Amino acid sequence: MQVLLVEDDISLAEGLQQALNHEGITVNHVAKGKEAIYVVETFPPDIVLLDLGLPDIDGLEVIKVLRKHKVTIPILILTARNSVKDTVSGLDCGADDYLAKPFEIPELLARIRVLERRISTTAESNEIIIGPVSLDTTSMQVKIDNKTSILSKSEYMLLKALMQNAGRVQTRDHLESQLYSWGEEISSNALEVHIHHLRKKIGVEFIKTIRGIGYTINKTNS
Ligand code: CA
Repeated sequence: MQVLLVEDDISLAEGLQQALNHEGITVNHVAKGKEAIYVVETFPPDIVLLDLGLPDIDGLEVIKVLRKHKVTIPILILTARNSVKDTVSGLDCGADDYLAKPFEIPELLARIRVLERRISTTAESNEIIIGPVSLDTTSMQVKIDNKTSILSKSEYMLLKALMQNAGRVQTRDHLESQLYSWGEEISSNALEVHIHHLRKKIGVEFIKTIRGIGYTINKTNS
């Protein structure tokens, strides 16, 4: 899982980054509101952890802009402004949850798990069809031109991550962190090997390589 941490207190950010990495969560960190908006819209994370008091624009403004742009990624506010008024404005602007500083790491992890469960229940409920490939996330079945294809767990999870985010580039780090969080040992070329096997099964052209960055699947693959 990938989290974007928006926090201008660098030592707090480093501590959180370490604690979350330890749980197998990949953390990208930015310190400013405008950067946060850019990153969320360019490399969408699974969850955003957002401080409200930021050096450029207010965290509440970040939430407003993202929600106005139809970004539905869960946002968890982390802030010292623990007054009722700020909690209410944050939630009214479209945040999903609120944690007042100082907080304990286990509580943060529990809140992240709640948001994660919410993402997977919405994401798991449908069949994704792109071109000749259909992926049923309930039965974990993949069909190519209506014929069932047997994929390994890692191949399945990679294909699912790419198809659920079709049209968006999935960075190498992100995909590797997904493999890692599924309990896979990561050797330096593990990702390439899985992609190679996947391409053999579903067609070489289906997954595009974005050199130096990662992989993507076009929304309209034929
Ligand atoms: Ca701050």
